[in-house]
Amino acid sequence: MDAETGNESVMPTPWEPCASLPAIRITDVQVICTAPQGIRLVVVKVRTSDDGLYGLGCATFTQRPLAVVTAVEQYLRPFLLGRNPDDITDIWQAMTLSSYWRSGPVLNNAISGVDMALWDIKAKRAGMPVYQLLGGRTRRCAAVYVHAHGRDVNEVQAAVEAHRAQGFRHVRCQVEVPGYATYGSGSSAAPTAQATGSPPHLSPNQASWEPRPYCLLVPKMFEQLRSELGYDIELLHDVHERIPPIMAIQLAKDLEPYKLFFLEDAFAPEDQEYLRLLRQQSSIPIAMGELYVNQEQYVPLVRDRLIDFIRVHLSDIGGLTPARKLAVLCEFFGVRTAWHGPGDVSPVGHAANLHLDLASSNFGIQELTLFSEPLREVFPGCPEIRDGAMWSNDQPGLGIDIDERLAARFPFPEHRFNGAWPEIRQADGAVVRP
Ligand code: MG
Repeated sequence: MDAETGNESVMPTPWEPCASLPAIRITDVQVICTAPQGIRLVVVKVRTSDDGLYGLGCATFTQRPLAVVTAVEQYLRPFLLGRNPDDITDIWQAMTLSSYWRSGPVLNNAISGVDMALWDIKAKRAGMPVYQLLGGRTRRCAAVYVHAHGRDVNEVQAAVEAHRAQGFRHVRCQVEVPGYATYGSGSSAAPTAQATGSPPHLSPNQASWEPRPYCLLVPKMFEQLRSELGYDIELLHDVHERIPPIMAIQLAKDLEPYKLFFLEDAFAPEDQEYLRLLRQQSSIPIAMGELYVNQEQYVPLVRDRLIDFIRVHLSDIGGLTPARKLAVLCEFFGVRTAWHGPGDVSPVGHAANLHLDLASSNFGIQELTLFSEPLREVFPGCPEIRDGAMWSNDQPGLGIDIDERLAARFPFPEHRFNGAWPEIRQADGAVVRP
């Protein structure tokens, strides 16, 4: 029986706590679900025996949040009570291996919630921001890219110009293909809060998709944007793995003249061997990774220099512990970081992205969600956004908190599929990637 937690199932590590640190224990692992801007967010709070000391981590898998909640509450919580939160690496290994079958998004998100919280706790104990534990800052701030979208190219152009007027120097451009459900092309051109993690771009009358009209329209969009806006702004585009691989190679070649900062998710993870063919035919910068959950997927791409930007979603690979290792691996191979950062990353996850950005010599760009007012109220300490970049508040830990009473006022909204994406279909009815 553990004297502090009352838990009989504590598995003690075979070593004593560090003699120079006061010994503490994990006393509770709690899951907080909230949706301040309509997107289902899952945050884990790890409490310790040190009165008032706790950490927060992002466990947001917005299409399957309730499965993550079960994994944390039913499996990780009893596994963790009584352990020493200082043993971050040991706990990560133990959590990962305790399920035997591993490296899937549900369990990785559950592990991430705990893992980020442990980094938060350790940095608070040290009285320094997490980026200091990662080796210290390599830059003042993290440049971000924002999303521009529109019903036609003129609306996209207006959105890019509006972002540029606000100081943003990197903009992702997505345009609606007339008559089709097109990824990332909301009907509003205004640079309002981004919420691309959920399916707001799918209206009920936009249920079908065909690749050819899209592949013809996107080069025309960038032709107009470069013609009208010049090259004094970085432009990006996300294919969202929707088109046949050979068409993605054609599209990459068609887009070369417009000097994109990167082309994202030209292929699905299942088709990633096509990256070798693309590399032989085009020098367009390639970003991939938000769908990866397993090192078997991303390590070969880095090792063989098949991508230029690694885009994993930190909580989907298991949190800060694997992400910091991946960032360093990428540095050795000339691959820059561009961690996934849309609206289905909680502000706690954005803070973790930022600390890793600041500590990485090979930082490339950070995808940004503009934090809405309700989101900033529920999560005090949201990273500050100015001059086209994200800035740390330099507080100890991740520098972010959660107002649990306020969070409870934003329950998950009613949804037919509990937040899951509805299917997209070709004109003949076949299901395609979202
Ligand atoms: Mg993407």
